[in-house]
Amino acid sequence: MTSEPALRVIMRRLREIMSEPGDGQSRLNKIVKQIAGVMVSEVCSIYLKRQDGSLELFATEGLKIEAVHTTRMKRGEGLVGRCAELNVTVNEQEASNHPAFSYRPETGEEVYHSLLAVPIQRSGQVLGVLVVQNRTQKEYSDEDVEVLQATAMIVAEQLVSGAVAGSSTALELAKSLSSVIEGESISEGIALGHVVLHEPRIFVTKLMAEDPNEEMERLETAIATLRTSLDEMFEREHVAGAGEHRDVFEAYRMFAHDKGWERRLREAVEGGLTAEAGVERVQNSTRARMLRQNDAYWRERQRDLADLSDRLLRILAGRETSADEPSQLPPDTILVARTMGPAELLDYDRKRLRGLVVEDGSRQSHVAIVAKALGIAAVGQAAGVVERVTAGDAAIVDAVAGEVHLRPSSDVITAYSDKVRFLAKRQRQYRALKDVPAVTKDGERVSLHINAGLLVDMPHLKESGADGVGLYRTELLFMLSDTLPKLERQVKAYKAVISRAGEKPVIFRTLDIGGDKVLHYLRQPAEENPAMGWRAVRMGLDRPALLRTQIRALLRAAAGQDLHLMIPMVSEASEMVAVRALVEREQSIVADKGYELPNTVRVGAMIEVPGLLFELDALMKRVDFVSVGSNDLMQFLFAADRTNARVGSRYDSLSPAPLRALRALVKATKKHNVPLTLCGEMAGTPVEAMALIGLGFRSLSMSPASIGPVKTMILSLDVERVSQVLDGLLRKGARNIREALEGFAESEGIEV
Ligand code: PEP
Ligand code: MG
Repeated sequence: MTSEPALRVIMRRLREIMSEPGDGQSRLNKIVKQIAGVMVSEVCSIYLKRQDGSLELFATEGLKIEAVHTTRMKRGEGLVGRCAELNVTVNEQEASNHPAFSYRPETGEEVYHSLLAVPIQRSGQVLGVLVVQNRTQKEYSDEDVEVLQATAMIVAEQLVSGAVAGSSTALELAKSLSSVIEGESISEGIALGHVVLHEPRIFVTKLMAEDPNEEMERLETAIATLRTSLDEMFEREHVAGAGEHRDVFEAYRMFAHDKGWERRLREAVEGGLTAEAGVERVQNSTRARMLRQNDAYWRERQRDLADLSDRLLRILAGRETSADEPSQLPPDTILVARTMGPAELLDYDRKRLRGLVVEDGSRQSHVAIVAKALGIAAVGQAAGVVERVTAGDAAIVDAVAGEVHLRPSSDVITAYSDKVRFLAKRQRQYRALKDVPAVTKDGERVSLHINAGLLVDMPHLKESGADGVGLYRTELLFMLSDTLPKLERQVKAYKAVISRAGEKPVIFRTLDIGGDKVLHYLRQPAEENPAMGWRAVRMGLDRPALLRTQIRALLRAAAGQDLHLMIPMVSEASEMVAVRALVEREQSIVADKGYELPNTVRVGAMIEVPGLLFELDALMKRVDFVSVGSNDLMQFLFAADRTNARVGSRYDSLSPAPLRALRALVKATKKHNVPLTLCGEMAGTPVEAMALIGLGFRSLSMSPASIGPVKTMILSLDVERVSQVLDGLLRKGARNIREALEGFAESEGIEV
């Protein structure tokens, strides 16, 4: 069987069925009969999803007729349930051998061996499952799969338009009750407002092409328009000047020119679909692939592709942008989308945007980066949200807890309004402290720095009144890029950071990649223990070209200024000797090429590997400063993976072992007169920051939002007293140091 004729035959027959008189059930019955015939299968069945997620047999050719409307599969049950739940095609030569097989005697299916099931889906939502079965142990070909998938698409269309039975059961969802959707905060904040559905979807109603040539022309014109419109968009001021966003958009634009995508679209239209149906078909398979992806990078890329399809559909429908009438947006818009690309968020009037909810998306996703830059509260991983809202619904995005409240009750609205007011008040208080130096009650000055990694983080330096950037994670530039950023591009990027920092110092951490921070364009071996693998400086020293280019770029970017280079994951003092040699070599190359060098170059080590704590004297002689990467240091001290929720928070950083280690470090840095900072998460939690100051730290680096709370704590702190308390606790080897310090803070009126 070749796909085109079979597909065409099915399409023609389905069209005939739809035009004949008859109720929904009789149409479904005819449909399964036709499909069974064309597919040469003894059985063809349609299962439709009910409100509770179970699947009901709605029509069958071949199974016992009594089973119709009787046989129900629980959510995820059996191969059919699996197909719906995972939105995957199931193709089994011997279905009963599959571990998920669930036998239903009432259907009489025991005589059938092979099974092919495809989801019936519409706009990424699974409505049901279309199944064929054969008596023989048939191996269904790729063509069979293609034909059944295309048929399922047409069935979905008919279901949605109500032409066949089951549409209301499949689509009806409780849209009136208030509910909470749990997701994940991808851009912090709280927003109250009203739902706007991102680009009410273009529904493709015409599926079969009358004139394939004309459809091909429409497709080609639309692709050309898409490419031009993206080019124009990227020329627009706010995108052109948007620093790191630019990389994200460039990648997006590149996909509009992707040959594979274009080929798949063409093939779909060649197969007899209209241009719109072709786009949707390719989009559905992209979506399905996206859901199966474990690799965040590829998931993100496929999301970009799915996004482009939406744009293309809008162009085909003659509606070019979703937000071309911004005045129609409510002033408190909560944007709800299945998926959203970074460029699309910028289509909206940002003054009217309060919050964003997406069904996919992670903290590292491109849209999250843009949302953060725009200061929009955003929750991702909000499964099923699109189906559960109607435009205009009231909603609260709690992107602190990672929840979305749909149609909240007045009590919830009041509670959140209070929370927002409280947060705003706190923010005002913190802002008022912006220019107040962080000095303790007994006169100790503590310098506070921010951690950053993107150009868009830089305004926080001024807003928070921090003393500088204590950790600039340079790998983000590399991770957002599609190719290895070349020397000149790096120079430009680092220069932009330095110029935005003004007079304030920036500590650039050299590339901390490897391990789980994968650059897809670099060949990195798969590792069993990536966190302890070939990462950061280890990779930098083994493959010096990468590190040398970066150092050269940093040297050039900091011409005439002070450059701070910080080296991650140093494990032995001797590694600093090698790094220094590398830096010196680059300095002379840069000078030889006639570029101005920085005024000073300071090279420091991150303390993240416990081994270093046992050669502190040697280390101190080889560094200009040190900074504790407490996130890594704690994970290695306790041998507890920081990314593994089971063990990640099992051990407390406020316990005797790490605190003693840090105290020894303070002592060594004092002895050798080496500046010391701590730039892990510990620094940003007031009670932990208090303990660090008690141990002798006088410099901390944290996320910008933590500066206010930590400074507030410092202003009411007496260092002498907290040091005494801490010494006492450590002498005793107390187990409950956190509790004791919280008690101390409370009794002293210190806000932690
Ligand atoms: C750390 O390990 O504490 C640190 C600051 O580095 P990162 O979180 O980027 O590994
Ligand atoms: Mg680290």
